[in-house]
Amino acid sequence: MTRRDEISHGLQTVRDRVDGACREAGRDPGDVTLVVVTKFFPAADVALLAELGVRHVGENRHQEAVDKSAECADLDLVWHFIGGLQSNKAAAVASYADVVESVDRAKVLKGLQRGAHDRGTDLDVLLQVSLDPPGTDGRAGVDAVDLPELAAAVSQHPSLRLRGLMAVAPLGEDPAAAFARLADIRSDFLADHPDATSMSAGMSGDLEAAIHAGATHVRVGSAILGPRPVDK
Ligand SMILES: *Cc1c(COP(=O)(O)O)cnc(C)c1O
Repeated sequence: MTRRDEISHGLQTVRDRVDGACREAGRDPGDVTLVVVTKFFPAADVALLAELGVRHVGENRHQEAVDKSAECADLDLVWHFIGGLQSNKAAAVASYADVVESVDRAKVLKGLQRGAHDRGTDLDVLLQVSLDPPGTDGRAGVDAVDLPELAAAVSQHPSLRLRGLMAVAPLGEDPAAAFARLADIRSDFLADHPDATSMSAGMSGDLEAAIHAGATHVRVGSAILGPRPVDK
């Protein structure tokens, strides 16, 4: 099997899973965007994905994303940055990312604004919400109670467009329960920000649960590309 065949097969499997979950949830598969997470995989894989019809790719490490997006500059792709964001790297991230999904504090906004402005485009941002119990030192994300303040801060930056929310289900909990909390948080959020309709949730192991809870974007890596050489 060639690498192209492998990726094509993984892609078909995941597209079928997305379609199946949409059917069960009574949703239109056209309302769920597949973001293929290419971290740790080479630019050659990104090129194969583009050939196979993928438009959205996700990266979580800045330096790797800089290099890969430059190598793939001739491809018609939308680059999602989904990793931990350092405020001193934020402007650089905005120089190649089309969507930054991992905004979890106001401190990164100034850099994102400057990077987007210098590039001469608007930048789509999602706010990453923590689904961990408050106070746990778990995964990244803003606590739901602090979302309104962070959203208000985004709106003070003219080149940033608030598009919605992103979350990762906590380890060791039924993802359906975690994504149900996210759906509640989102419905409050939408009342204040009716245009911020994106909900990025669901990965290789839990994309069905996320689609049931209303995800508009699923971020899938290993189910398409195989196990990562070094897992984070
Ligand atoms: C790596 C990663 C994914 C993809 O994970 P898989 O289990 O390989 O599908 C999704 N979201 C984020 C934030 C990630 O870092």
